[in-house]
Amino acid sequence: MAKRDYYEILGVQRNATEDELKKAYRKVAIQYHPDKNPGNKEAEEKFKEANEAYQVLSDPKKKAAYDQFGHAGLGGQGFGFDPGFGAGSFSDIFDNIFGDIFGGGPRGGQSGIDLRYTLEVDFEEAALGVEKKITFEKEFVCDTCEGSGAKPGTKPKVCGTCRGSGQVRFNQGFFTLARTCSQCSGKGSIVEDRCKSCKGSGKVKKPHSVVVNIPAGIDSDQRLRLRGEGERSEVGGKVGDLYVLIRVKEHALFKREDEHVVLDLPITFTQAALGTVMEVPTLQGSVGITIHSGVQQGETLRLKGKGIKRLNGSGYGDQYVRLHLEVPKNLTHRQKELLREFEKEGKGDTYPGVTGFLQRLKEVFK
Ligand SMILES: [Zn+2]
Ligand SMILES: [Zn+2]
Repeated sequence: MAKRDYYEILGVQRNATEDELKKAYRKVAIQYHPDKNPGNKEAEEKFKEANEAYQVLSDPKKKAAYDQFGHAGLGGQGFGFDPGFGAGSFSDIFDNIFGDIFGGGPRGGQSGIDLRYTLEVDFEEAALGVEKKITFEKEFVCDTCEGSGAKPGTKPKVCGTCRGSGQVRFNQGFFTLARTCSQCSGKGSIVEDRCKSCKGSGKVKKPHSVVVNIPAGIDSDQRLRLRGEGERSEVGGKVGDLYVLIRVKEHALFKREDEHVVLDLPITFTQAALGTVMEVPTLQGSVGITIHSGVQQGETLRLKGKGIKRLNGSGYGDQYVRLHLEVPKNLTHRQKELLREFEKEGKGDTYPGVTGFLQRLKEVFK
């Protein structure tokens, strides 16, 4: 099979600069890297091809030979068979260009560890906002060994397996890949005399308190993010965030519907028939309401602005008072008498619903 042109493989012009070559190679190699294309033979071939192309074009001598004589200028041999192009030299190039992508050396500047905390708050606290101090266990760098994990006065030893790089290189075909050193778990060092405080981990768990400012209007399943209150993944590394997940407890009287509060209010059937004035609780204290005579089961009164503050700051929701008519039970003899008397007084419009139904019934079955 004819070998493809190296410039074509990398997708660059023949007069490409060193920098352009490097960029082009990087792009192709990332695209076809075996880690990203597991088991894909075609990608593996393309990856090898790009490696070969770059190794030649990035070497001024080989490039000159290739430019003048083509593949024949390189001895006409396949790249993989040339001992001069061994995996050792290739891995240096690979490190040089990919050090930050595929690893290489102990990892530095890893992102911090985010923590989660579920916080239960009362209905009123969620509605009105509150400050809450929470305490939880968090990992800190061990003070005794300053995170090294080694007993004070001793030092961790450089890992003999990876020689401190934290990674072990191995050859796959003619190119070299790296994996995390299993001897030192990628740390690059091994603790022989362990620090007693942290048992060699370099980290200790300690209770940690934070004040969480809960904004008025928060609801269940919403999260607050406290930057920098998570854990450090390693000494000198970044600190993660703390996510506080809110759970709002149920209220004995109020229910919540988004920014609105619903109050189910039972009233007697005489109150409904005669009308009345009464006080009902709201989040902002009790409020007088007027129940007009003749209200029906399930009717709702709206108390504007008596609901929950909207989280986006645009005012308040409302409170809805849902009326539930209670039919009297366990009547005394006298009460029954009065009701029978009351019933006799009935006019056609005392019960418009019942009267209307009876009329329709008559028309259907006349
Ligand atoms: Zn320690
Ligand atoms: Zn190691």
